[in-house]
Amino acid sequence: MARLSPLQRVRNIGIMAHIDAGKTTTTERILYYTGKSYKIGEVHEGTAVMDYMAQEQERGITITSAATTCEWREHVINIIDTPGHVDFTIEVERSLRVLDGAIAVLDGVAGVEPQTETVWEQANRYHVPRIVFVNKLDRVGADIDANIDALIDRLGATTLQLQHPIGAEAEFRGVVDLITRECMVWDDDSLGAQFERTSIDDFGDEELFEEVEMRRELMLDALRELAPELSDEPSVDEVRAAVRAVTCAHKAVPVLCGSAFKNKGVQALLDAVIAYLPSPLDVPPMEGFEVRNKTVLEKRVTREPSDEAPVSALAFKIVSDSYGLLAYLRVYSGMLRSGDVLFNTTKGKRERINRLLRMHANTREEIEVAYAGDIVAVVGPKDVSTGDTLCADTDRVLLEKIEFPVPVMRVAIEPKASADQDKLSQALERLALEDPSFQVLTDTETGQTLISGMGELHLEVLVRRLADDFNVKANVGKMRVAYRETVSAEAQGDNTFERAATTGKGQFGHCRLKVSPAPRGEGLSVSHEALTRVGVPEAFIDAMRASVESVYASGCVAGYPMVDVKVELLEARLHESDSTEAGYQVASALAFREACNAAAPQLLEPFMKLEVILPEDEDMGNIIGDINGRRGEISGITYRGKSQVVGALVPLEQMMGYATKMRTMTHGRGRYTMTFERYSPVSPEVAKMLMGF
Ligand code: GDP
Repeated sequence: MARLSPLQRVRNIGIMAHIDAGKTTTTERILYYTGKSYKIGEVHEGTAVMDYMAQEQERGITITSAATTCEWREHVINIIDTPGHVDFTIEVERSLRVLDGAIAVLDGVAGVEPQTETVWEQANRYHVPRIVFVNKLDRVGADIDANIDALIDRLGATTLQLQHPIGAEAEFRGVVDLITRECMVWDDDSLGAQFERTSIDDFGDEELFEEVEMRRELMLDALRELAPELSDEPSVDEVRAAVRAVTCAHKAVPVLCGSAFKNKGVQALLDAVIAYLPSPLDVPPMEGFEVRNKTVLEKRVTREPSDEAPVSALAFKIVSDSYGLLAYLRVYSGMLRSGDVLFNTTKGKRERINRLLRMHANTREEIEVAYAGDIVAVVGPKDVSTGDTLCADTDRVLLEKIEFPVPVMRVAIEPKASADQDKLSQALERLALEDPSFQVLTDTETGQTLISGMGELHLEVLVRRLADDFNVKANVGKMRVAYRETVSAEAQGDNTFERAATTGKGQFGHCRLKVSPAPRGEGLSVSHEALTRVGVPEAFIDAMRASVESVYASGCVAGYPMVDVKVELLEARLHESDSTEAGYQVASALAFREACNAAAPQLLEPFMKLEVILPEDEDMGNIIGDINGRRGEISGITYRGKSQVVGALVPLEQMMGYATKMRTMTHGRGRYTMTFERYSPVSPEVAKMLMGF
């Protein structure tokens, strides 16, 4: 079967914005004009097509990204919806990983906002070319120039203004295309489906004419600096080609404008997506590591975006909904057919692709083949998690992994009805599969189930999903910082487990082991050479290893998961008749606990990288004093455009209520972002409180 459209006619894009800038409304309008949704659903009425999860509609924010395919001027546009709330940056990271380009939506009144900065920086990190849509030009106070200044000053962007508004605020009617000099005026009666194009020469507005000519020259001058080969009197096509080249090369950001809500400017935005954002052929080929059998080699390989290349795909999202489990894949190379058996390199297992779907916002289309560059969903994957690579069994590759943020908050959870315990465990397991920034563990002392995530809202949303999607009502405890445990010295543990036989065989196990600190970030390593040398059966070694891993995961001095411990299994005596796996399991768990308790155990707490952005100098003293008072350490003060940026390292535990305090101190002028930086030892006071010593 031939592909729907050649690769140069595919755009995989994301729409990113600060919350409330109009991302959902813009996406809605795109789906309307491209003909995939038949009625315009207003966000405030809670019917928006993309926000299909019930609670998103209630909250009015987009939490889970949904991939949606639509068509515009013989191009296929796959839109990956990205969430706007800072607690869900993992969703943004995941989707940015598989995008080729993005639309950044700005609120024309509020301009560049904190979350705009965060996603902008993420997009920089993943080298995602983007265009800006200055939205809400119908609102009082909307100002395209202030938005452009903020893009330059705050984000350090090189902008190319490609459109200028016709009329302002309530009188906003349309835009002038500064490349073609065409005025586009939208018709309110057709919900913006119709619009009129007139050359600025015939538009009959002298003032606007002057403005447009002036801005056109400025734009062309800026473009010439970036693309010196542009001729003196370039044609429309030449200008467009140059804009495309500099956009794809991250040298500049085209700026468009309109009002999604008032149905103005969206078709021109779609045209710009096609004209200026890259196709999968315009971005560098996907890189990965060669894999032989199950071994990942150091050798880097690339996968060309071509149907003829061996198939490779990355799972960027797992969703469970009423239809069951769906894995969203970005196909980087080759073709993928329903019925194919692929290799999941991350898991080291084969995976059969049973059914393939192309996802629209509210419908699904079953397809037989997915091609290089496609974004599709696989129904009912057996064992695929977010970030896994799927590839041809004969050409194995591991595509670069997505980096996941560390879950820094945690809360105890229990079912409202005790009969629901199993149901709760299953549902949590499912949610953890979908969302790697969410972890489930059991407190070994109290038997409590604990969940940890990236912030309060993140965990709240998960608890709500338990009720809505899995029908499990749960009670939660107080939200706490997710501490970690580790050891800071070397020590041994030695334990023998013996149970005499009343009838038949008894139980026996023994373990002597050594623990020592591992460098930060190394995790757990368990070595067993000493046991293998003297012929301890593999089954017992495996039992000991599993047991150590399980204690490591739930902690052994204060009930927090451990990090960075090196374990050497040194000795395991055998009993002539009674040795059992269970015996070695118990003995090794107790030996490990004993060793950790003797190895100067330490509690670690998450330290966050804080950036406070201050447009006014006078707020600086207060902000710095407050950070010091929170056990924070100032790392530097820099300029971003006209604002000053205070960088600091702060313990998360001290940051409760920071948003409100910071707003008060700066009279609403300051903004901040906070991301996980590292785990560091807690202060002696905190240690005392948590461990009682
Ligand atoms: P998101 O959080 O970025 O997805 O933003 P939404 O699309 O949910 O929009 C937030 C609010 O702004 C909603 O009440 C929208 O109706 C409103 N809105 C979106 N676009 C416009 C616009 O162009 N003009 C006006 N006046 N309001 C808008």
